[in-house]
Amino acid sequence: MSFSSLGLSSHLLHALAKQHYTDPYPIQKEAIPAILSGKDVLGVAPTGSGKTASFVLPILQQFQKKPAAKNRFIKALILVPTRELAVQVGDVCTMFAAQLPRAVKILSVFGGVSINTQMIHLQGIELLIATPGRLLDLIDSKALNISEIDILVIDEADKMLNLGFKAEMTSIFSLLPIQRQNLLFSATLGKEINTITEILLQNPVKIEVKEDLKHIDLIQQIAYDVAEERKGPMLRYLIQEKNMQQVLVFTSSIHRADAVVEKLKTHGISAAAMHSKKSQGARTDALKNFKLGAVKVLVATDLASRGIDIDALPFVINYELPRSPKDYIHRIGRTGRAASSGTAISLIGPDEQHHFKVIQKKMGKKVEIIETEALDLKGY
Ligand code: AMP
Repeated sequence: MSFSSLGLSSHLLHALAKQHYTDPYPIQKEAIPAILSGKDVLGVAPTGSGKTASFVLPILQQFQKKPAAKNRFIKALILVPTRELAVQVGDVCTMFAAQLPRAVKILSVFGGVSINTQMIHLQGIELLIATPGRLLDLIDSKALNISEIDILVIDEADKMLNLGFKAEMTSIFSLLPIQRQNLLFSATLGKEINTITEILLQNPVKIEVKEDLKHIDLIQQIAYDVAEERKGPMLRYLIQEKNMQQVLVFTSSIHRADAVVEKLKTHGISAAAMHSKKSQGARTDALKNFKLGAVKVLVATDLASRGIDIDALPFVINYELPRSPKDYIHRIGRTGRAASSGTAISLIGPDEQHHFKVIQKKMGKKVEIIETEALDLKGY
């Protein structure tokens, strides 16, 4: 099946070809026609499944028939949990919109940066991508009104709840018009998501896309049994031994991410941290420098890693295991995409052995754990 059978305009088909999107991903096949026909959609899809284009394309197409919006009255709202996702989704919207005959005015807003600049840029905006807190601040300041929107998207709804945005979401829902189209995307379903979908969605088309485990086979997975106090030296040993030029390291806490970065730097290895306590500017710089190769090691927490849009990393290292097997699969999925194979390394402490067994079971793949006690790490 090609994009041309989904009901998209020739301009968008041209934009897709330009981006080398040849075939629609499963979520796109189902979501695009449903959204174009005005239906509510519940999409259960992991990050990386192509869900952004699945809602951005039909939304942009619907804009082609709309008259220009009144100033401050946006017509479409995409709610996202993090600043990185706001920027990323905004970029996808702008990229596709550039090929359309009717210009669509698009803006991403998020906290942690000056609200005044955002207020100025809100002039004439029709499609807004926003994090919940900043959206409410802008509404309170009368810079923005959401009472006439035609379409609402909630992206990564589960993360939104995990981040404690429930109260903000409820406030936002109370400001929306009754007549509107609703699209909700979440990597997981749970009690709270079900409650939200019941309040929000009307006879939704349900689309479920499972995590694609096929490409896991392309990833070389290695695990080392490492005592907690030897994880730092082991990490530096691996970076040097394997001559890693670009490696994404995951830690489970912000504090640990900072500590790992500091240690790497004192050992002369360029590194930057990526987590929610870093300013927006610092995160953007860290990611840019990492992509350019100016920084070899990016140390991230799971949440911050959602905004890291690099498909084929050569190396991913789990300095600590994530709590959920899903996050493990998501982390290692940052490497070994398409034709390029990658290596995912996990440093397993004594307390993590059992948990690693659970992860392997969920993944349906066994990974041998290599002893490192005898390895001389002096000097690392
Ligand atoms: P997403 O899950 O929306 O973050 O998309 C994951 C990645 O897949 C992004 O880098 C997209 O550019 C890419 N992508 C999405 N849809 C397609 C497609 N149909 N063909 C090729 N690449 C795609």
